[in-house]
Amino acid sequence: MKIGFIGLGHMGAPMARNLLKAGHTLKVFDVVAESVKKFAELGCEAANSPANCAKDVELVITMLPSSPHVRAVYTADNGVLAGVAKGVLLIDSSTIDPQTAREVATAANKNGNPMVDAPVSGGTGGAEAGTLTFMVGGDMTEFVRAKPVLQAMGKNIVHCGGAGNGQVAKICNNMMLAIEMIATAEGMALAAKLGMDPKIFAGIANTSSGRCWSSDTYNPYPGVLENVPASRGYSGGFGADLMLKDLTLVTEAAKAAKQPVMLGAAAQQLYQMHSANGNGALDFSSIIKLYKKD
Ligand code: NAD
Repeated sequence: MKIGFIGLGHMGAPMARNLLKAGHTLKVFDVVAESVKKFAELGCEAANSPANCAKDVELVITMLPSSPHVRAVYTADNGVLAGVAKGVLLIDSSTIDPQTAREVATAANKNGNPMVDAPVSGGTGGAEAGTLTFMVGGDMTEFVRAKPVLQAMGKNIVHCGGAGNGQVAKICNNMMLAIEMIATAEGMALAAKLGMDPKIFAGIANTSSGRCWSSDTYNPYPGVLENVPASRGYSGGFGADLMLKDLTLVTEAAKAAKQPVMLGAAAQQLYQMHSANGNGALDFSSIIKLYKKD
């Protein structure tokens, strides 16, 4: 297929490379000219605006920082909707709030274009390896159309329901992850402070009812597990600022829906404090630094 790809950042660039590997032809755009140049050197067509990138292609994929960027890239005067032919499927893989995803999908539909939201989990490693999970919101017909292309970049492609539901799945899952990571950090730090060997305590928790992904697969206490960010100075992994972004999206969505998220809101504030302390670039398991100073 000839695909228009917009947003060649940490995630978008490796995803676009996997589309090339699968034999697709790309027309690319990013506000950073250097990123576009790298793909032009690989033989891709370079576009000079989102509208231009969406012209004469069979599909458009976007991978942008957040909600305002997605709204602008689709609906501005030189946006995707101004350049794309009717009937072309639009896929937004950015993580944004469900309300914006639904509004942009409605604008696309009015323009004659079906649209799905397809945020991802799996991080930059999954993007490089082509093993991302895509959580897709939109009509089943469009999910079926999108699936073969998404399979060139991911392993699990899951239909989550109507427009915006991919974003709902993504941000609610990450809220649960943040809360369980903070709970694990609190428990691990307290057990150590009260005199227990953190490794022995983690072993007990992991065969007892305190077990969760953050305790048995991604433990935040240094030295408990090998090959996790906690055991290499919290480098690599999923950045605390990216977790803060998702927690801010989820708490704002909850506020708009008048749905209580007491622990989600507390998690958002704890990550905000952690980021304000200068730790935003560290892996999100570094939140244990709030409880353990050495
Ligand atoms: P990034 O900042 O590295 O990349 C975003 C790209 O969009 C940049 O190249 C930027 O120049 C470009 N861009 C910004 N505004 C633009 C515009 N108006 N027109 C064209 N291009 C524009 O971000 P990323 O890490 O690649 O993340 C992309 C999305 O994926 C985010 O929504 C993020 O929350 C989500 N995500 C990231 C990860 C991760 O581990 N990095 C994991 C899962 C989901």
